[in-house]
Formats: sequence, structure tokens, C-alpha cells
Amino acid sequence: MSRVKNKRCAILGAGITGLAVARFLKDAGAEIVVFEADGVTGGLCRSDDVDGFIYDVAGGHVLFSRDPEVMSFLAGLMGPSNLVRSERNTRIFFRGRYVNYPFENGLNDLSAEDNFLCLRGFVDAFYKRKYENPPAPENFKDWIRYRFGDGIGDLFMDPYNEKIWKTDLKKLSAAWVAGRIPDAPVDDIIKTSVGITTSGYKHQAIFFYPREGGFQAIPDRLAETIESDIRLNTRVNSIARTDDGYEVNGEKFDEVVSTIPMDKVYSLIEKPDPDSKKAAESLDFLSLATFLIGLDGKDESNDLCWIYLPHPENGPCNRITYLSNYSPNNAPPGTTSVLCEATYREEPKDMDAMADEVVTALDKNGLIDKSKLRTLAWRKIPHAYIVFGLDFAKKRDKAIKGLRDLGIHPVGRFGRYEYLNSDMCVRAALDTAAELIGEMPKPKEMELGREFTESVYADQNLSIGPTKAD
Ligand SMILES: Cc1cc2nc3c(=O)[nH]c(=O)nc-3n(C[C@H](O)[C@H](O)[C@H](O)COP(=O)(O)OP(=O)(O)OC[C@H]3O[C@@H](n4cnc5c(N)ncnc54)[C@H](O)[C@@H]3O)c2cc1C
Repeated sequence: MSRVKNKRCAILGAGITGLAVARFLKDAGAEIVVFEADGVTGGLCRSDDVDGFIYDVAGGHVLFSRDPEVMSFLAGLMGPSNLVRSERNTRIFFRGRYVNYPFENGLNDLSAEDNFLCLRGFVDAFYKRKYENPPAPENFKDWIRYRFGDGIGDLFMDPYNEKIWKTDLKKLSAAWVAGRIPDAPVDDIIKTSVGITTSGYKHQAIFFYPREGGFQAIPDRLAETIESDIRLNTRVNSIARTDDGYEVNGEKFDEVVSTIPMDKVYSLIEKPDPDSKKAAESLDFLSLATFLIGLDGKDESNDLCWIYLPHPENGPCNRITYLSNYSPNNAPPGTTSVLCEATYREEPKDMDAMADEVVTALDKNGLIDKSKLRTLAWRKIPHAYIVFGLDFAKKRDKAIKGLRDLGIHPVGRFGRYEYLNSDMCVRAALDTAAELIGEMPKPKEMELGREFTESVYADQNLSIGPTKAD
């Protein structure tokens, strides 16, 4: 018997996490209300249409999950024929060359001198670990050298990570950041260095993208199933614990699930634990400026997905994505769309000037032809990346505990400060709903998408194994 049957549940935020929790609770008989500050659902998964160009506003998004239940749910939700399959084809733009990704699997694309420096450093680091067995460093900067050696560290890892993280790499925790970096066997590196192709990083070797409507189509489909329960343009301003439940904006509820960034939610809560509030408010994050560049013309031979831009001379962006390659409906016929991402700490004052800087740098580097510019738009995303400082885990745990002690369920990328992609947000939503309901939800879409997932996994030689955040 569902523990939430006929209970009133407030879901704070209508990003993919909030929508998924709401949907699972509703299926279990709860009366739900989703509060969303924005005028549209989707949060970081939102896409806008600008002059016929689809614009994933928080940067290029792709769909894949190693979690078979989540993959099945999302495929069932969308319908497999509404998903476009792509093979990951990505590069690093390095001193005018296109280097295979990941960098250590692209050494042969470098100049002979750079290739030698990187290979020697990698092999040195390998033998140092093997014979001296030093402890893995706690900070990310030293960990880069421990894992990849000086060459790859100096030439690629340091500049790229400094560009994206805008933080002294010695102050980042290796434990959190390194887990997201693919591990490469030494044999593969030697092979790639001498020109024998290796596949490298297998995750997201293929991915999917909605045929119509951009990545937003995924939260849209979810929202359709609970439309009448979503309140748009309704910011949560107050959350109070009462004798028999909660009040959200003065309205009574039995349960509260929050996907509002944890560093912000405490200021809405009546009488929070002061130490937990302090911990939450000291959690560090990065913002993101994105730029959509629509260009006349389409180079049919360009099948790249995205390119990393590690160096300052490439302009402010750390990555560009060819969104028009993800679905034929992402751009008007005969055009190309390039989505550019630049993290920031201090809010850029003049976005038009920054957009100009982005376009000029890409043009100068030969990555776009400025004379073909047709559309230029920008967006600012206040919460984009969690910054994993050395004391991150302690602060985050304290902040979560403060909410849990009040009976509030924090979940989501910033709702709980977990480095989740949207698929793992759905997993987190399933787990949160299971905790409230008393059993794991089994939405009907999961069954509908199961056959599709089995065929995709078989194609990728993926076992239906344990789940892991991307
Ligand atoms: C650059 C970048 C690239 C990414 N690439 C991918 C990818 O390729 N594939 C992938 O699967 N994932 C990707 N992700 C991750 C994905 O976007 C997130 O994991 C996911 O969208 C987070 O969803 P969420 O619901 O937890 O949070 P959010 O989407 O942030 O939703 C929170 C919601 O709460 C609302 N809100 C905030 N405050 C209030 C308030 N006071 N009252 C009411 N509502 C409020 C917000 O408006 C928002 O709608 C990427 C993220 C970034 C930044």
C-alpha cells in the first residue's frame, strides 16, 4: 500500500528531477503540486527556439544512461522513433590541430615534440605509481600529474581545467573531479602515441537526442503527464514546518521534496539549523554563459558532435557543440548551429560584447566563418557546475542533514549538490519517490522502452550492470 496515497506533496522546482518525482508520486496516489519559479518547465534541460534554431540553453545536452531502468523509462517516455541516434565524434582543438578525445587517446594527432612530452610523462607517472606506490594526491592539480604525468598536465589538463573551473586546481578535490575522468591503460596510450588507433573512452560512444523540440522535449513529455498539477511563475518564498506537516507559501502539505539549489533553499525556510544553513550557503558553484551561433550553409562532411577549447586564445568558451548535427530539426535547412559554453564566477556585465568576443575568437581560429553569421543569442545560467572544493563533502553532508532533520527531501543536481546528468536525476527521483511511497515506482514507460534499451546495450556490449553518475 502506497504511503503517499491521498497525501499532499509539494515538489519545489520543475526541472527534470522535480517533474519525475512528481509523476512517480502522482502514480502512487499522492496529490501533488509542483512549484516552478520560471514560466516554463525543464530547468537546465530547457531548449528555446531562436529564429528556427533549437537552443539548449544550459549547453549541449545528450541522452544516454548506463542505468537500464532509466534508459528504458526515458526511451519509453519519448518513443524510440522520436529519438535520433548519434555516434560520439568529439575533438580537442589544440594549437590549430584537431586532437582525438580523450586527449591521451589522441597523442598521435599532436606534433612529434608534444607527443613525446606527453608519452614520456604518462609512462613516467605509470612507473612511479607502480614502483613507488605513492598515495593518490587529494588535490586535483597534483592528481593530474600523478595520473597523467607532466606533459599531458602542462599541455592539456591544466589549461582546460583552469578554463572551465575558474578555480586554483590545488583547491579542487581530486576524489570528486577525478571520478569523472576516464582511465586509460598504458598500452593504449603507447599505441595511440605511435599511431595505432584505440577507441578510448567508451561511455557515450553513442547517444540519443529528441527528434523534435530539442532536449526540452524530454521534460515536456514528463510535464504532459502531470500538467494540471504544475504551477508556473510560482516562486517558493517560504517553507515552514508545522505540527502536522509543512506550509509552502502558506499552503498546507504533508511532504516536501526540494530541487531548489541547496545554497538558496535555506533562506526560504523558517528557523533552519544555523550551522546547516551556513554549510549550505558556502557550497561553491559556477555559472555558465551560453551562446547560440546560427550560420548560413552546412558542411555535410562535418559530423562532429562537440569540440573542447582548452586555451585562452580560443576565446572565452571551453566547448562548442554542433547542435544542428544532433537532429535535422535543430536548425533551418542548409544552416549550421554552434552552441558555445563559457563558465563564469563574476557575472559578465556586457553579454553582447562577450558574444562578439566569442564569435571573433572562433572565426580567428577557423572554427566558424563570421561572414555567414545569421543568428546570435545568449543566455545566462546561474547554477551550472558544482565546484568540488577540498571540504565539499563535509559541507554538503551537513547541508543535506539539516534538510533531512526537518523532514524535507532534497534531490537533484543542485537540490542535493550531486554531479548528476539528467538520466541520473531520474534515478534520484525514482529513489526519492521510493522512499516516500514505500516501494520502487515501476512507471509503465519503463516496460515500453525495455526492448529498445536491450538492443542499444547489446549493440554497445554493455552489461545491464550497476549504475553510475556520468
Ligand atoms: C553545461 C551542462 C551540460 C550538461 N549536459 C548534459 C547532458 O549532455 N546530458 C544530460 O543528461 N545532462 C546534462 N547536464 C545535466 C542536466 O542539465 C541536469 O542534471 C538536470 O537538468 C538537473 O535537473 P534538476 O531538476 O535537478 O535541476 P534544475 O534543472 O536546475 O531544476 C530546478 C528547478 O527549480 C526551479 N527553482 C529554483 N528556485 C526556485 C524557487 N524558489 N521556487 C520555485 N522553483 C524554483 C528552477 O527554475 C528550475 O526549473 C548538463 C548540465 C550542464 C550545466
